[in-house]
Amino acid sequence: MLKVHNQGSNHFLRVVRGEDLVEQVQGYCKKVNVTAGWVQGLGACDHVVISYYDLEKKEYIKHEFNEEFELLSLIGNISMVDGEPFLHAHVTLGRSDQSVIGGHLHEMRISGTGEVLITRFQTEFSRSKDEETGLSLLDGRKA
Ligand code: ZN
Repeated sequence: MLKVHNQGSNHFLRVVRGEDLVEQVQGYCKKVNVTAGWVQGLGACDHVVISYYDLEKKEYIKHEFNEEFELLSLIGNISMVDGEPFLHAHVTLGRSDQSVIGGHLHEMRISGTGEVLITRFQTEFSRSKDEETGLSLLDGRKA
């Protein structure tokens, strides 16, 4: 169950222990119709699946970790993919010896707390497949 505070375009969520941060953020965005946004967060987790994108192979190389981490930093965005809000986020995770790992986020089970700020944009972000990189990149007008 999320704890939520809203102020203008800012939505502050607290993801509680045992819940998946990605599912909770995407579910909240669906519920209140956030179709574009910027996401920041911190907290602690005890299960995470992160990856590194191999540009040569055009695939995400996933790694699963089941240990206590501080969520030092989460940064990401919300766009619409297949009609649903999609969180694209990267995380930096701290171990008990103060060393860090990080990567592209797939799953994160919260252990202590997950404190997330979503700044909503009054538009819709979409993504399209980029043939050169194999990535699903954000669309937009030329600046
Ligand atoms: Zn990424």
